[in-house]
Amino acid sequence: MSRFLSSRFSDLEAYTPGEQFQNMKFVKLNTNESPYPPSPGVLKLLAGGEAEKLNLYPDPEGKFLRDKLAALYGVNPENVILGNGSDELLGFAFLAFGPDGGVLFPDVSYGFYPVYARVFGVDAKAAPLCEDFSIDPADYMNAGRMVVIANPNAPTGLTLSLADIEKIVVSNPDHVVLIDEAYVDFGAESAVALTKKYENLLVVHTYSKARSMAGARLGYAIGSAELIADLNRIRYSFNPYNINRLTLAAGACAIDENDYYRDNCRRVAETREQTKKSLRELGFTVTDSKANFLLAKPPVMDGEAYYLELKRRGVLVRHFSTPRVKDWVRITVGSPEQMETLLRETRDILA
Ligand code: PMP
Repeated sequence: MSRFLSSRFSDLEAYTPGEQFQNMKFVKLNTNESPYPPSPGVLKLLAGGEAEKLNLYPDPEGKFLRDKLAALYGVNPENVILGNGSDELLGFAFLAFGPDGGVLFPDVSYGFYPVYARVFGVDAKAAPLCEDFSIDPADYMNAGRMVVIANPNAPTGLTLSLADIEKIVVSNPDHVVLIDEAYVDFGAESAVALTKKYENLLVVHTYSKARSMAGARLGYAIGSAELIADLNRIRYSFNPYNINRLTLAAGACAIDENDYYRDNCRRVAETREQTKKSLRELGFTVTDSKANFLLAKPPVMDGEAYYLELKRRGVLVRHFSTPRVKDWVRITVGSPEQMETLLRETRDILA
């Protein structure tokens, strides 16, 4: 730390991303990426003419892509904002809607929520998950502050029903309810349609998981025109050109090839169910995840020992040292071949 850093941040605990080795020597099941490449049109586009325009700034409104997303979800373009990954939009939302009243989220959820709260000076309250890791909707009724819930939740993969989400939104009319749907395409119900009915509901999506574009950094949020205008006020005060040209073009092309991504999500969900069954047969406790990852507790060893043993064998999964999940690991659902490698090494470790 230099002597110039503001004292506000001297004890800031930053978010720790999953390990990102770039040499591909691991079977990489640690950061919930898609095992499948971007669709053919996206690959063709990136190899083609768009790169020649990199001397020019991108459209700060991302209009072409927002039009496509709006048409896909049956909303208007003014109900959509783009982010440099959904992380950026989560940050904008904490900054825009959190400071006055504070924020409430589950005690076991996406590790960035407490970090955003801390860095933007937002009072954070964590509601404990139930014993089985499910979310009790009653904990979020009349919260008296902004509510943030990932659905499916991470790293549990468990979902809330749309009916429960609607009850939470209705009971908090004076605060924003943010539903982070990073993993929704693998088996949960989306709350996007409810944004037409409720001015306080903001739904955040990412291209990083279902749309195979974690490396392009693209996310979007859908909500009332007023909420989106608030987020744009923050965005234009921070980084108006937040989405680069290549990513804007790739994001639009991916919408045209939606069927390709829908098929991949179906394949990932099938692989997830098969892997879950195999792990349970080996004695693991596994949550009923509807996301592209599994939260699994090994039978005879603790989570960290299993993670380290897998890593030694070239398979990377994610271990969190937070107390409630320290006995578990989060395993991204990769291709069937990658999961076969995971299971083979696991059988060997247990033997
Ligand atoms: N929300 C949740 C629940 C996540 O797990 C992640 C992935 N780390 C994100 C948001 C952010 O994804 P991205 O910034 O790649 O869109």
